[in-house]
Amino acid sequence: MYSDDMVTISPMPTSPATSASSPGDLFQLIRQGTARSRSELSKVTGLAPSTVSLKVEDLLRGGLVIESGVSGRGGRTARRLSVNAAEGFVVSLDLGASHVRVAVADLAGLILADRLCSTDVIDEDPGVTVSGLWRTIQGIVDDTDLELTKMVALAVGVPAPVRQPEGRIVSPAFMPAWNNATLSTLFATMTDVPVIVENDANLYAIAECPAEVEPESAHLLAIKLGTRIGCGIISGGKLHRGFSGAAGEISHTQAKGQAAILCSCNVVNCLESVASGGALLARLRADGLTVGSTQELVQMGEHGDARAVQVLREAGSEIGAALSSFVNFFNPRELVLGGTMCYSAPLTAAIRAELFRTCLPLMTENLDVRTSRPETGLGSAGGLRLALDTALQPERVNALLSEAEAVHSA
Ligand SMILES: [Zn+2]
Repeated sequence: MYSDDMVTISPMPTSPATSASSPGDLFQLIRQGTARSRSELSKVTGLAPSTVSLKVEDLLRGGLVIESGVSGRGGRTARRLSVNAAEGFVVSLDLGASHVRVAVADLAGLILADRLCSTDVIDEDPGVTVSGLWRTIQGIVDDTDLELTKMVALAVGVPAPVRQPEGRIVSPAFMPAWNNATLSTLFATMTDVPVIVENDANLYAIAECPAEVEPESAHLLAIKLGTRIGCGIISGGKLHRGFSGAAGEISHTQAKGQAAILCSCNVVNCLESVASGGALLARLRADGLTVGSTQELVQMGEHGDARAVQVLREAGSEIGAALSSFVNFFNPRELVLGGTMCYSAPLTAAIRAELFRTCLPLMTENLDVRTSRPETGLGSAGGLRLALDTALQPERVNALLSEAEAVHSA
């Protein structure tokens, strides 16, 4: 059993639904920690205690919440309501070119499994890939002593723009055979749970969105600095996908430097071809240096390799200059740097220096530029969060309760 980190995924920030009153709405208040007992539910919603009790009984009968006794003042026992974690689980798949990260969390958001599989499941044919991924999920669910029938949602992160709501992959930079693939349709032959397909940088932004804030004040740009460069946008506590699902494709804006790799975007010297991890690897290899991965490149920079430090600093300046325009345009509260390259001090120092040099002071005076939280690196935190928020939204909870009721009275 996974125990290294006991990380819990919390819901995205939401304003308490004080006017709504279905069992699903009350479930949200319990899940968010806004109300932890029948009396608190009554206080928050303004509903009569008897009405609250009826709806809580629905949730208890449906197995979605549990009520436990907690000793209070004067020896009185207060009854505490909480999500019944064991009632189901969600799975997140984070697809890379040569690996897939699989994570599992229970309904309370506790991560139960987190595995990086460098397997051969990523095939030219998305149908073959999906079959392989399904077998991988089955294996991990078995190993975690769970029953597949208890899975309530699946989130899949892909390194490509995704057209919503159907979750169709459009114009992937690599894996061209995946253009127009709708993975949820392919998964539908194996499972009937909701399958949410999302761009990987968007999932990363979802993972980094703070839970303990008013949604209106959650504005962030999450930059994924790896072999490639990606960006996810949270505006007012919500993911901003844009009209075509392509918002945040910042990597193909023109940079000042010279391209080190070819990019299919047709922009001469785009940011990705000049300053991505892949471009820096190509630059060092052209100089005759042996460097196998972006992790190795980060290490070389930390050990003071002069050429590595030079290319990292130059790339940082290029990325900082590009981010400066986006920050001036978007006015985020937080700018989060993540991906394997975010652990390179020469790179991130140069990004900050250029950003604060060229951005409007009005934008930077309250801007928090930070590196990714450690728990975000744990599996697909954003995918788990999205899957849980989808599976446990009020309408879906109400539908689950009706289904359970129908089975019960049949
Ligand atoms: Zn490009």
